[in-house]
Amino acid sequence: MSFQPKKSLGQNFLTDVNLSRWIADQIEPQTAACVIEIGPGQGALTAHLADRCENLVLVEKDNELAPALVERFSNNSRVRVMHADATRLDLRPFYRFGDVRIIGNLPYSVGGEVLKAVLTPATPIRHAVFMLQKEVCDRLAANVGDDGYGGLSLLVQQHWDVKLLRIVPPDVFKPRPKVDSAVVKFTPREPGSLPVYDRPLFDRLVRQGFSQRRKQLKNLLPDAPDGWEALVNHLGVPLTIRAEELSLQQWVELTRFYEGRQNKSDAGQKATEMFDVVDENNRVIGQQPRGKVHAEGLRHRAVHIFVLNKRGDIYLQKRSHLKDVHPLVWDSSAAGHLDVGESYATCAIRELEEEIGIRVPETEKLADIPATERTGMEFVELHLARHDGPVHYAPDEIDCGTWFPPPVVDEWVDARPEDFASGFIECWRAWRSASHA
Ligand code: SAM
Repeated sequence: MSFQPKKSLGQNFLTDVNLSRWIADQIEPQTAACVIEIGPGQGALTAHLADRCENLVLVEKDNELAPALVERFSNNSRVRVMHADATRLDLRPFYRFGDVRIIGNLPYSVGGEVLKAVLTPATPIRHAVFMLQKEVCDRLAANVGDDGYGGLSLLVQQHWDVKLLRIVPPDVFKPRPKVDSAVVKFTPREPGSLPVYDRPLFDRLVRQGFSQRRKQLKNLLPDAPDGWEALVNHLGVPLTIRAEELSLQQWVELTRFYEGRQNKSDAGQKATEMFDVVDENNRVIGQQPRGKVHAEGLRHRAVHIFVLNKRGDIYLQKRSHLKDVHPLVWDSSAAGHLDVGESYATCAIRELEEEIGIRVPETEKLADIPATERTGMEFVELHLARHDGPVHYAPDEIDCGTWFPPPVVDEWVDARPEDFASGFIECWRAWRSASHA
């Protein structure tokens, strides 16, 4: 029986073999640890991926096509088929692969939702190549002054460099769609290419600013601290500015103004901050500045806190690029050095509030971890806190963060210890061996 394409699932199948091959090439499958294909359908792209990937995961929602793919690739142990909805895909188990890339000729009806699900940090995706309606691709890649420039351009480009690679006409699909398509490539924006800012606030301001395109921003955005005039003077733009007239960099600067961050430089830690220095028995023997403590490997004290929610998931943070040690690797929910004279318990409560905006009356001590090179010569106390509400992290300390089921972290730590701060791994092993004992 011949297959009837389903409009509801956006089934427009590619019929041009050379074009399919060219699209598959753009993700450079042979150098990836894992490639995820969204909506493989009848396998037009898959045919050019299956023998070139170390791991290929096919995510197909269609009840007929998914079993057919299972059958077709049953002899290829490097291909796994997930009969699932890509808009609800849980990407957390993919971190353990490292270099994860994603590709797809996306069903147009849910293209935006798929992009949001897979490209919003925190995500393990490092590169993406998607085919979508040309009009959406234009918006994704647009710069200030271009026709398609708007909220979508900004929300995506704050995280990704977006390049429109090629326009694709309707006649290479069956059935033919009504409009042109295009292929876009996403590569992560260089860390530090934008100054730090509060991302949820940026997203809110951009959405409000573009909610009525023709209106002036001053009538759409909340009252600016020190008034609208101070804000536009700071940006060097007219009072009557509209959302679409500000570049990404200016939107970031506008967000920083609302945060009161506009005159602050993005400093990581201060080398002059003072710590207690301790002996091999964790007794205080003096005080020294942070820079010297780290440079000379002096023993000192730090607390790590694991925050768990009701489901038993743990919140992990990816450290900011501004950190002087272990930048851009994953770490405990919150962690920090004890101030001079501060107790571990007080430090735990303070760090939770400063780093991830969580207020708790107390934490529970879980373990003592001795000072070794692995902890950076820190005597660590590991504490536990429980929290179910939102997490609001400090953007100069943390790049991004999310909740993980502990078994997913177990696999990830085993497969890729290099993705984590070494002190975190000590804490993780102490906690997991105690909870399995
Ligand atoms: N990759 C194939 C090609 O290029 O010929 C098919 C592309 S077709 C435009 C979109 C594919 O996505 C279809 O196979 C459709 O069944 C699948 N699909 C639609 N909605 C989906 C969803 N929410 N999750 C996963 N796959 C979906």
